[in-house]
Amino acid sequence: MQNTVPARRVEERMKHFQARASELGLAATHQRRIIYRVIAKSAEHPSPELIYERVKREIPTISLATVYKNIKTFAAMGLVGEVGALPGSIRVDANLDRHHHLVCVNCKAVVDFCDSRLDRVRAARANPENFRILRYQVEALGLCPACQVAPARNKVRTQRRKHNG
Ligand SMILES: [Zn+2]
Ligand SMILES: [Zn+2]
Repeated sequence: MQNTVPARRVEERMKHFQARASELGLAATHQRRIIYRVIAKSAEHPSPELIYERVKREIPTISLATVYKNIKTFAAMGLVGEVGALPGSIRVDANLDRHHHLVCVNCKAVVDFCDSRLDRVRAARANPENFRILRYQVEALGLCPACQVAPARNKVRTQRRKHNG
């Protein structure tokens, strides 16, 4: 799976971040730029905890709470996306282009997926359950290539820790 973002793409994302932050009145401080760059460099939809581990290499004194608070600010301002249907943990998405997700039900890997047919998915009713729908993003649940090879286990949680560590 491609987990690295090309350097050129990272720079584009950083430029977009600086421009949008200044439009929105968010100070693009040194700390915020480091946090955002860690997110921009990752294609794996990292958890706040993983982002914190990487930010700490550059700012050893930073706390998880600070990283978490900045991620929430970025998300509220539309500077990052969040992967929805994974219970228990936020997964942060630097890809702001229209796309869908392939989610591994075993190791919780999340992979970006472009599909013009999925782009056209619409509910039959305009406001189901009185929701005002903002956008559609499809999550296809399945098994990633690694988990198809490894025998599926019942202890999904421990498996996941091993995978990510
Ligand atoms: Zn997997
Ligand atoms: Zn994504």
